[in-house]
Amino acid sequence: MTSFPAAPPFALRARLLSPLASGRLLDEPDGLVEVNERGRITRVGGWPGAEAPASAFDLRPMVLMPGMVDLHAHLPQIPNAGLGSGLDLLTWLNRYIFPLERAYDRSVAERQAPAAWRGFAAAGTTTVVAYTAVWADSTDAAFAAAEEHGIRAVIGKVMMDRLTYDTDIDPSEILETSLRQSDELASRWHGRDEGRLSYAFTPRFAVSCSAEMLRESALLAKRHGAYWQTHLSEDAGEITEVRRLFPGARDYLDVYDRAGALGSRTLLAHAIHLSDGEVGRLVESGSRVAHCPASNLFLSSGMMPLGAYRSAGMTVGLGSDVAAGPEVSIFSVMRAGAVTQRVLELTGRADAAAALRPLDWVRMATLGGAEALGMQNEIGSLEAGKQADLIALDPRLTTPLPGDEPPGDADDLASRLIFRPHPNMVRSAWVRGRLVDLG
Ligand SMILES: [Zn+2]
Repeated sequence: MTSFPAAPPFALRARLLSPLASGRLLDEPDGLVEVNERGRITRVGGWPGAEAPASAFDLRPMVLMPGMVDLHAHLPQIPNAGLGSGLDLLTWLNRYIFPLERAYDRSVAERQAPAAWRGFAAAGTTTVVAYTAVWADSTDAAFAAAEEHGIRAVIGKVMMDRLTYDTDIDPSEILETSLRQSDELASRWHGRDEGRLSYAFTPRFAVSCSAEMLRESALLAKRHGAYWQTHLSEDAGEITEVRRLFPGARDYLDVYDRAGALGSRTLLAHAIHLSDGEVGRLVESGSRVAHCPASNLFLSSGMMPLGAYRSAGMTVGLGSDVAAGPEVSIFSVMRAGAVTQRVLELTGRADAAAALRPLDWVRMATLGGAEALGMQNEIGSLEAGKQADLIALDPRLTTPLPGDEPPGDADDLASRLIFRPHPNMVRSAWVRGRLVDLG
């Protein structure tokens, strides 16, 4: 059985597959990655033969890749993943989601969050951006579980001062309480363990937040240098409701723009029904988008015109949106994304000539996610100087017949990983060179 190093420094011999910052691809059939004692990659390249370190762990025929980045997930919702397909967003939230979030107190979070982090890592995800529930104590527990597990995480307590499932609190106190608790959580956790953990101020979406909550949370995020995340333009019913609630806003994005919330530390999930004006303003503001195609298909929300967005210069990464997305695996999200784009092409709404190749999806899932977080100099690819957030996966599990050889061509290999992912194909994951538990 292959053994894996638990902590840096170490050297790995494996097949290497990674996007590069230059736009090119690292495709090394027999390669070496060296990681120093601080968990940084110091060397990447072909196996150097006689000059190779004697102590390298030989992982062949496994593939070493950068860990996946999940830009959008909801921790309390995971138990109901896969339930409610085809319901509209607002019905699904009330039936399957708000009861789970209401119950997500500290004891539930202490039980579920460690398993959730192991589940993300087992799917090959080494960075997760997550919402919790409106409760401060269970958010604290989710952070503590991430600190203990070793995964890289951006986490935020959900803020709702309208239509909240917190029925105990006096409505007149929600705004102040939610802001104060979020402020305290950010002070405690943002930047913890040399930046492995970060805070995201997390107003749920415009339907459940007042203009004041949006504005004040954005101010706090700037003050802490933290992220600000919410949902944007996911579903027709939601968009109608936002128009009714914010009659003075030019469009949905304008609700967040007026709150002073747009910018390079802002993560907007979905963003699938945008006007040209919204696309232009989103790009101009430098805001980032979490594309969640598995969720968008599951709830019949719509299909993102990804090609047009990318042409406009939008920074887009991928999100599972579990539990509206039925699986935590970003490989299954890539497949849903590819299927969505295929449908758009077949119905004449996207240009097939500009279609993304499997390796383009891998880039979006890794370096693209890192760029969305402003961490492209730290994670997202196998390059010297970066932190060693790595996964090793066994491509033999993805072949149609047992015993067959995995494809030699890099695009074919990526295609297999996306279209025939195996639940056990990720054999190991490291964050900053530290092995993390896959469960
Ligand atoms: Zn979501």
